[in-house]
Amino acid sequence: MADKKDYYEVLGVSKTATEQEIKSAFRKLAKKYHPDVNKTPEAEAKFKEIGEAYAVLSDETKRKQYDQFGHAAFQGGGDASGFGGFQGFGGFEDIDLSSIFDDLFGGSMFGGRRGSKRATKGEDSLLRVNLTFEEAVFGCEKTISLNLLETCEECHGKGGFDEKTCPTCGGAGRVIQEQRTMFGTFQSQTTCPNCGGKGKTFARKCNKCSGKGQTSSKKDIVVTIPEGVDTGHQLRISGKGSAGRNGGPNGDIYLEFNVKEHPLFKRDESDIIVEVPITVAEAALGCKKEVPTINGSVVLEIDAGTQSKDKLRLKGKGVKNPNTNKYGDMYVIINVIIPTKLDRKQKELFKDLDKTNLENSEEFKNYNKYL
Ligand SMILES: [Zn+2]
Ligand SMILES: [Zn+2]
Repeated sequence: MADKKDYYEVLGVSKTATEQEIKSAFRKLAKKYHPDVNKTPEAEAKFKEIGEAYAVLSDETKRKQYDQFGHAAFQGGGDASGFGGFQGFGGFEDIDLSSIFDDLFGGSMFGGRRGSKRATKGEDSLLRVNLTFEEAVFGCEKTISLNLLETCEECHGKGGFDEKTCPTCGGAGRVIQEQRTMFGTFQSQTTCPNCGGKGKTFARKCNKCSGKGQTSSKKDIVVTIPEGVDTGHQLRISGKGSAGRNGGPNGDIYLEFNVKEHPLFKRDESDIIVEVPITVAEAALGCKKEVPTINGSVVLEIDAGTQSKDKLRLKGKGVKNPNTNKYGDMYVIINVIIPTKLDRKQKELFKDLDKTNLENSEEFKNYNKYL
């Protein structure tokens, strides 16, 4: 970099040149040395040189840095001046090239992206919704409050007033960036940092939306939550989300459910599981047992000899699967409760019971073999 030419010299302007003078000097030179027009061997190097000079001198901040520190301002760390802070300077960053190239080459270089105002869909919103067990199982209507973006009424979504072509990209929405690395020089196009790719900027920014074109406001939306949703399920409410841009459709709202546990009913997707306590006598003798389901009680026939953890299925007594519309099943898990507090009479009865041959089942016979 030691033999680098002075940027002002490169463009042939004075140190006090105005922005306009710098620009017009660059235009003249760019036209002359652009490799597409100028086929002399030195043209490319010269073109890069002027591009680099222009990138610095057309940028107020970089120009000041250059005036103060010279080329050292844009060198990597470790140079004599000790200024490593400007690393990553890419030469063509933020450069007003496209307007010039548009003038020179009819905009073909940038593929005609001028003033792109694509209709874009509004942002999607995700909202977590707490539901009681019953709300989830039977479905419900819920009013949910959320912040949504709406098109700004003040500027009608434009973000400002008195629109003009972006001076940075000349309306192309893209700028060329040149990056020098140890492997060579790479050119790439990036979105214009000044206009964010719109190609236009405003003389006056809209205060209401701070230039965003959208304002946020709290909205209440009534939603119908279908029967059978569960924790982690998502529901998409299409087109009710934030406003789109440039005529684009609204975003969607996604509701993600969190269902509160029920003290008795457990859910396994569309199935309901209920643990039913029965007494030792009920288990041994069999009984008719009233069992709650999500749709009211039913009477269940418990066979004699029912064991703890035995599972009984009540077909179709589960929850509706919101995707298939089929109902799950209910499973009754038997829990034989061994009494922990016995009165004197009960103790006597158990002792009498124990005198009978209770160890007559296969389980005992097998076990006793190993004693
Ligand atoms: Zn506005
Ligand atoms: Zn721009």
